[in-house]
Amino acid sequence: MLRGRFAPTPSGLMHIGNARTALLAWLQIRQASGQFVLRMEDIDKPRSKPHFAHQALEDLRWLGIDWDEGPDVGGPHAPYVQSLREPLYAEALERLEQRGQLYPCFCSRAELLAVASAPHGLSAEGPAYAGTCRYLNETERAARRLGKLPSIRFAIGEQAISFQDGIAGQQDFPPGAGGDFVVRRADELFSYQLAVVVDDIAMGITDVLRGYDLLDSTPRQLALYDALGASPPRFAHVPLLLGTDGNRLAKRDGSLSLAAIRERGIQPERVIGLLAAMSGLIARAEPIQAAELIANFNIDRIPHEPAIVDQSALQWLYNS
Ligand code: GLU
Repeated sequence: MLRGRFAPTPSGLMHIGNARTALLAWLQIRQASGQFVLRMEDIDKPRSKPHFAHQALEDLRWLGIDWDEGPDVGGPHAPYVQSLREPLYAEALERLEQRGQLYPCFCSRAELLAVASAPHGLSAEGPAYAGTCRYLNETERAARRLGKLPSIRFAIGEQAISFQDGIAGQQDFPPGAGGDFVVRRADELFSYQLAVVVDDIAMGITDVLRGYDLLDSTPRQLALYDALGASPPRFAHVPLLLGTDGNRLAKRDGSLSLAAIRERGIQPERVIGLLAAMSGLIARAEPIQAAELIANFNIDRIPHEPAIVDQSALQWLYNS
C-alpha cells in the first residue's frame, strides 16, 4: 500500500506552485489506490500562523484534493500537526545523542555568515556548515559556551550518498554534502530536517513527492533515516514553477496565491487545468477536475525543467 503526504508549512498563503506539488503528490497516491496524509509543518512556530494552516486546508479542498488522515480528520498517527509532536522529536534526538551523532554548536549568526562568503557549497538551507564546533574538546566547548544555549548539529558521515529520484533521476552527492546540519536550534525548536524524517517514519510514508527546492535536503534526510534505523521512502522532486521574472514563486508574493485566485472568482477546474498542462498531464490547458486526472497520471510525463507561469498562462487563468 502506497502512502504519500502533502506537508505544507503555514508561513504564508499557498500559491499555485504549492498547489501543483500537492496535486501531483495526491495523483501519484490516488492512482495507486494508496492513502494520502496531510501534515501541517508548523514546527517553526514564530513563522507559522494558524490562519494560514486553516487556509491551506480550505484551498486544498477547493482544488478537489482530499486526504485520508490529517489535522481535521485525525487518523492512526495523530496528531498531524508538528507543533503537537515535539515529544517524538525529543525522543529521536535522544537516540541520535546515544549513538554519538550529535554535537553542540556555539557559532553565532555572524560567524555562520562569514563562512557564507567562503567558497563552500550552497544548499537550500544556506551555506554548508564548516564544522567549526565538531571537534572541540571539553575545555574548548566550555570556553565557547559562555552561557549561550547551543544549537545541536548532526555529524554527517564520511560516505557519499546516492539515490534514484522518481523525477530527477540518479542523484549522487559527495561525502559530507551540505555539511553538519542543525537538528535543534538554539531557541530549542526542532529543525525541519529532523521533524520531517521522524514524521515520515512514524506515519509510514512510502512515497515523498515534493518541490525541487528540497532535493538538497534529501541526502541529510537519508543520513537521518540511516541513523534512526529506518528505511527511507522513495523520493521524487518536482521542478519548481517560476514567475515571469525567472524567480521561484514565493509565499510572500501573494499575486499567485490560491486565495487571490479564488477571490477573483476563478473556478478550481481552471487552476487544475493549468497545472496539469504545465505538468505534461494534458496536452494544453483546459478546465478539468483533479479527480479526472487520476486515471492517466504518469510521473514520467512531468517535465524535468522548471516551468514559467508566463503571460499566456496568466491570461488563460484570469480571462475565464
Ligand atoms: N514543509 C515543507 C514545505 O512546505 C515540505 C516538506 C517536505 O515535503 O518534505 O516546504
